[in-house]
Amino acid sequence: MKAVYKHPRGMPDILPGDIGQWHAIEAAVRSTMHSYGYEEMRTPLLEKTALFERGIGEATDIVEREMYSFLDRKGESLTLRPENTASCVRAGVEGGLLQPGSVHRIWYQGPMFRYERPQLGRQRQFHQTGAEVYGVSGPVIEAELILMTAELWRRIGVCGVVSLEVNSLGTGADRAAYREMLIDYFQASADQLDEDSQRRLGKNPLRILDTKNPDMQELVENAPKLIDHLSNESAEHFAHVQELLALNDVQARVNPRLVRGLDYYSHTVFEWTTDRLGSQSAICGGGRYDAMLADFGAKATPGVGWAMGMERIVALVAVISEGDVAATPARGPDAFVISTLKDDTGFPIRITETLRRACPQLKVVQNTGTANLSNQLKRAGKLGARCAILLGEAEKASQSVTIKPLTGKNDPFTVPVAQAGQALSSILGS
Ligand code: ATP
Ligand code: MG
Repeated sequence: MKAVYKHPRGMPDILPGDIGQWHAIEAAVRSTMHSYGYEEMRTPLLEKTALFERGIGEATDIVEREMYSFLDRKGESLTLRPENTASCVRAGVEGGLLQPGSVHRIWYQGPMFRYERPQLGRQRQFHQTGAEVYGVSGPVIEAELILMTAELWRRIGVCGVVSLEVNSLGTGADRAAYREMLIDYFQASADQLDEDSQRRLGKNPLRILDTKNPDMQELVENAPKLIDHLSNESAEHFAHVQELLALNDVQARVNPRLVRGLDYYSHTVFEWTTDRLGSQSAICGGGRYDAMLADFGAKATPGVGWAMGMERIVALVAVISEGDVAATPARGPDAFVISTLKDDTGFPIRITETLRRACPQLKVVQNTGTANLSNQLKRAGKLGARCAILLGEAEKASQSVTIKPLTGKNDPFTVPVAQAGQALSSILGS
């Protein structure tokens, strides 16, 4: 079969054979969010472009070249969300949640869109799950958000193959002083800066530290480090976060070069990586972004959060379980309804509906198409059905069904339609 249409580049489908892994990870996410008292929030896939330009920062990879932006029919510029933090803050302010003194623990999941070069672990539509806390300053909440990611890795079963890096970006004042230092440093070696970095030098020199250009690594390595120039207060704040992590047995390596994408970050930033996925090694990142809330209309409300890449987690689970997870077949029907009636009179679909209503916990599937009894039974076996419901002329005439268990040694038996649900539940268990 040749496909007439193909999915857009970098936006693959998730087919039924793969969805089981997603469900397992999503269930771990839900249970973890529940344990920590986080509530789900859903925002639109589209926002006004200015929201992301402002919320992510103009001198960032995302805003400079990764956004899917377009004009709608009235000429307004909209963008498919490349991440969800800015949307959550917008929704929190607009929805009146972020009142001074109130605390909100929020989580989300869903597709994000970035116009990147598709490759293993990097897509144009991908999925993120994230958590955000509004209304709490201080190191304890930063530790909570990191500890919950560690707990999530435990529940997903990947904690042995991930590692954590942390850094502090201090306060706005710390960064302003450091910024000047950094500009002086890079200006002295301006000839070694690539085009992106030259542009960023005036706008946001911290972003230069994030460069992946191998030719600039030595220059960046020798640059002054913000962590060596933090105010005492910021240094204490960061030391406290590290103590809380250690107290809860979470190892964190300080990486002075970790600056992360958002312009708004302050104090603690962090990133989880793995060495099992090749070059797309980042699975989760986050930090404190109080200044974004101030800019979006919630002056007195601090914010901290993280986001993780679901595709990379799915891939990681598949790698470390060496295919076991991928090989787990979907569960077959509990009851497979087979009809040998000459004309489809509506009897089979009515019985199937009756059974579903009587046993909502069971998977009840009606065979489609016509075949003789033995071929239909073979089909039931292939699907892994636990029992077959046989409907023929006799059953129709007496308004009854024949239940044939397909596992164990139980013989087929016939019961009136009114008792079929109960009979099915009692042999299959509810
Ligand atoms: P990277 O350095 O890999 O580009 P990032 O810093 O752009 O990551 P974030 O904006 O921090 O990523 O997003 C959080 C997580 O979302 C990442 O750690 C990663 O797991 C995932 N992610 C980001 N971009 C993509 C993508 N294009 N395809 C798949 N997953 C992605
Ligand atoms: Mg990126």
